[in-house]
Amino acid sequence: MQTENWIEIEHKYYLQTAKRFPVVLERGEGTIVWDSDGKQYLDFVGGIAVTSLGHANPIIVEALTRQAQKLITVSNLYYTVPQLKLAKLLCESSGMDKAFFCNSGAEAVEGLIKLARKWGKVKRDGAYEIIVADDAFHGRTLATVAASANELYRAPFTPLPEGFVRVPYNDVEAIKAATTGKTVAVLLEPLQGEGGVNVPDDDYLPAVRSWCDEAGILLLLDEVQTGAGRTGKMFCFQHYGIEPDALAVAKALAGGVAIGAFLTKDSAALLGPGEHGTTFGGNALACEVGYSVLKYMIDNDLPAQVTKRGEHLERRLISLANRQPMVTEVRGKGLIWAIELDRPASEAAVNRCLEEGLLINGVKPTALRFVPPFTVSEEELDRAVDIVERVLREISEEK
Ligand SMILES: *Cc1c(COP(=O)(O)O)cnc(C)c1O
Repeated sequence: MQTENWIEIEHKYYLQTAKRFPVVLERGEGTIVWDSDGKQYLDFVGGIAVTSLGHANPIIVEALTRQAQKLITVSNLYYTVPQLKLAKLLCESSGMDKAFFCNSGAEAVEGLIKLARKWGKVKRDGAYEIIVADDAFHGRTLATVAASANELYRAPFTPLPEGFVRVPYNDVEAIKAATTGKTVAVLLEPLQGEGGVNVPDDDYLPAVRSWCDEAGILLLLDEVQTGAGRTGKMFCFQHYGIEPDALAVAKALAGGVAIGAFLTKDSAALLGPGEHGTTFGGNALACEVGYSVLKYMIDNDLPAQVTKRGEHLERRLISLANRQPMVTEVRGKGLIWAIELDRPASEAAVNRCLEEGLLINGVKPTALRFVPPFTVSEEELDRAVDIVERVLREISEEK
């Protein structure tokens, strides 16, 4: 069937919440995807920071087929080995004590919010307010939308769950000023993804950690986008010599198969029997894939490779910025980067990159985001930056 027909079918039968590009993607391998006309693209969107090991990685294909032939889902009424192997490996690689599995990032953050509410009831006299940040993104459920900053995601759905207090990001004094007897936790992304790839100062998270200790409140980290190796450590907080009380992880964890998890210290793990649950969360199929991906990352020190490739991408982006005055800032860590533009040209740039065979994400009207797989080659990084450079030159010359 023609691309146009599928686009028509989408318009007729699919709820129109996604603004899609006019391509039907059919298959992928590594950093490359092909559309239904056989055109090839470099994929620097990666399912939005999800395809950590690239497309059609044999590690994932093998884990999926092996586990699908044995057991997919049996509920959490019974023990299954993949879930417990993955729980152990995640706790060992994060320093947390307990894991809980779900199916998405939003559900994982929702779990953190429930954990904090329960902890507040038991340990802090019913305190329930959670301090969150400007430009934060935590998901699309009602509570995570309430925790997120974007008004477009919030306004149509009021009244939202209450108990979220917003402060500027990267400003510990604002957190101190917002802390009251009702405060139970601070919830932050250690590096903001959807907000535009915002990297805080090196002393921000350590200062927030100290404040949470002093005030007797929890530090919750949303590592849905940064966790499982994306920033060059298994978890982003590990760059800063601190630990949260609990964290959420999802996107890169199973390399493209839907999974989410929250991990918590025993001291915060007050959810008891029956107080939280899930049908699909922790199923054997997703967990076997998650385990295989995480084990591969650890055995092959993929975070070190992410750091190395990330340094190459950073150098290339900085030299692009030096040649192209439209680029006013380069920011990121590991393999999550953004370039800031001096004008709202990201949509035009993304469309032209698509024509030129590069999938890239306009994370803001003025910023482009690069989140390639951890397995990306230096040659692929070069090709992608070359395309972006060509496209920005065209746009700047038209003005
Ligand atoms: C993507 C994302 C989420 C939501 O994840 P979903 O799987 O889309 O529910 C939550 N927090 C952060 C930081 C994210 O990047």
